[in-house]
Amino acid sequence: MAMAELNRQKISTSVDSYLESPKTFHLEMPPYRSYDLLIGSVKEKIYELMTFSGTIDAYCIWCKKESVFKSSPTNRWVLGQWLRQIENDLQELGWYCAHNNDHHYRSYYFTAKDSNILEKVGQFPSVADFQIPQAEKYRKILGEEQYKEFTRGIGIAAHGVGIGSFVYLRRVFENLIEEVHGKASAENAGFQNEKYLNSKTDEKIKMVKDYLPEFLVENRSLYAILSKGIHDLSEEECLQYFETVKIGIEQILDEKIIKKEKAEKAAKAREAIQKAHGNIANTQNEN
Ligand SMILES: [Zn+2]
Repeated sequence: MAMAELNRQKISTSVDSYLESPKTFHLEMPPYRSYDLLIGSVKEKIYELMTFSGTIDAYCIWCKKESVFKSSPTNRWVLGQWLRQIENDLQELGWYCAHNNDHHYRSYYFTAKDSNILEKVGQFPSVADFQIPQAEKYRKILGEEQYKEFTRGIGIAAHGVGIGSFVYLRRVFENLIEEVHGKASAENAGFQNEKYLNSKTDEKIKMVKDYLPEFLVENRSLYAILSKGIHDLSEEECLQYFETVKIGIEQILDEKIIKKEKAEKAAKAREAIQKAHGNIANTQNEN
């Protein structure tokens, strides 16, 4: 095999995050993404994913929580004959929620006759359908404007739009970091604001690390991509980093929610204690 061919194989499987797991492939990959089955390693990976008969941990839009999905027994793929089997035939793969058999996710694939291209042609519910309800819990903490941008980003990424979705998420991420930056510079007299403004995103994260979740600080190198101009990024790169930025946003928001809940609990406790004190003081006065 020629070196170029070998390199091509290596790149096509290592770069494609949708081939990582049955979940990313069947439930998170946007439709109309296609794979060249003439590439040996791709064919092998696709075969493994298409014949997968285990379970997938995923959010169920009907249970409204994480669930386990069992693969449908109607899988028609036959070892050895698998490519011939699927030619010119729409393949439906089904996934059933362990809590309720009516909760049924489906994904569809197609390979035209005499073609070596396998294409995902559909999914129900859509990627956005089950990703957006998971974002709902961030609505309050994000505020309506930011929440709209966040879910718009998720929605278009689900349709395979890389750059556009990335821009939305990047704005939300940068807003959150900016909020933290404001706090850090207000609370620390020695904060090097000039240096901060001229730094790349990963360096910025380091400078305000006391105000950010550990995960983000530890993985800050992943966020260096945000310093790149949007013109320097390809559709593919944007889609690839979309998940990373989304996880970063969720980490920050999760922490904010926990802090807010703690503060609310403490305020309630204080109120209750004051009330109790008041009652004691009153009874003492009456005596
Ligand atoms: Zn369910």
